[in-house]
Amino acid sequence: ENGKNGFTIYCEEIENVSHIVLKNREIEKMLRIAVKENFEGLVVHYQPIYSSVANSMIASEALLRYITEEGRMISPAQFIPIAERSGLIIPIGEFVLRSSAQFCKEMIEAGNPDFRVSVNVSIHQWKMPGFDEAVMRILDEVNVPCKNIVLEITEGMAATNINRIYDACRKLREQGVKIALDDFGTGYSSLNMIRTMPIDLIKIDQTFTNDVATDEYTHLFMRLITMLGHQLGIAVCVEGVEEEDQLASCKDMGVDYIQGYLYHKPVPAYVLMEMIHKERGLNLVHISDDRKGL
Ligand code: C2E
Ligand code: MG
Ligand code: MG
Ligand code: MG
Repeated sequence: ENGKNGFTIYCEEIENVSHIVLKNREIEKMLRIAVKENFEGLVVHYQPIYSSVANSMIASEALLRYITEEGRMISPAQFIPIAERSGLIIPIGEFVLRSSAQFCKEMIEAGNPDFRVSVNVSIHQWKMPGFDEAVMRILDEVNVPCKNIVLEITEGMAATNINRIYDACRKLREQGVKIALDDFGTGYSSLNMIRTMPIDLIKIDQTFTNDVATDEYTHLFMRLITMLGHQLGIAVCVEGVEEEDQLASCKDMGVDYIQGYLYHKPVPAYVLMEMIHKERGLNLVHISDDRKGL
C-alpha cells in the first residue's frame, strides 16, 4: 500500500500490532456472519441536516454502525475499509440503501414530502457494472421517489473507471436521484471533480469547518468554494459544525445546509422521526427547497 520502495518491520512482541491485525480479522469475520444472518448487528443511524436559511431539518445522512453482541458500537471508519477490502461492501451497501429508502418513505408518509436521505456509497459500489440499475431496482421496490434520495460519492485516490462512475451518476440523475460530493477538499482532484462530475451538492469536509472561525485563510477558502458551487448551480453543505461561531461563519458565507454535532449527533431512525415531529409541531416556518439543485 505504501508503494514499492518501502518495507515495514513486523514484530510479534509489539502487542499493539498483533492486536490490530487480529481485530481486523475478527471484524471481517463478524461482518461476514452479519451479511449471512440478515445483517444482524448492522444498524443505520441518521444525522439531521439543517437548512441554514429556514433553520429547520430538511434531510439526514445515513451512517452505518455495527453493534456487537455485547452492545459495543464499532465505528464505520474502522469497519468500512475492511468491508471494502473483502468485497462485503457490496451486500452491505445494498442493505444501507434499502434501509435508508425505507426510512425515507416512512418520513414522507409521516407528512414530510420533501425530506431527503443521503447515503454514502463506496467507490467500489460506484465502479460496479450495473450499479445504477441496482439502485433503481431498490428504489422501485421500496417505492420511494428518486428525488428524495441523495447518493454521496467520495473522490477516490485511485480514480480508475472514472467513465463508468460518471455514467452511473448521469443515469441516476436523469431519474431524479441527487448526487453529492462528500469530504470535499480532502481528495486529490477536488476541483476537477466539480468541473467534470454531474453533481447537485458539495459537502465541505469537517477539517475545513474546524478552522473556519479562527483562520482567515480557511474562511476565505470556504467562501470561495460556496461562491463557485452557487455559480455552477451546486448547493453547499458544511459538515462537522460543532460550535456557534463556526455556524455563524457558515451562515455568513451563504452555505445552504449545515450538519454537525452543534445541531445533533447521528441517532436511530425512530429518534429522528420523533425529533422532526417535535420540530414541525413547534416550528411554523414553511420548509421548502432554498435553492435549485438541492
Ligand atoms: P462521512 O460520510 O463524511 O460522515 C460524516 C462523519 O462525521 C460521521 O462519522 C459523523 O458522525 C461525523 N460527524 C458529524 N458531525 C460531526 C461533528 O460535528 N463533529 C465530528 N467530530 N464529527 C461529526 P461516522 O458515522 O463515524 O462515519 C465515518 C465515515 O464512515 C463516513 O464519513 C463515511 O465515509 C463512512 N460511512 C459511514 N456509513 C457508511 C455507509 O453506509 N457506507 C459507506 N460506504 N461509508 C459509510
Ligand atoms: Mg458522507
Ligand atoms: Mg464527509
Ligand atoms: Mg468521511
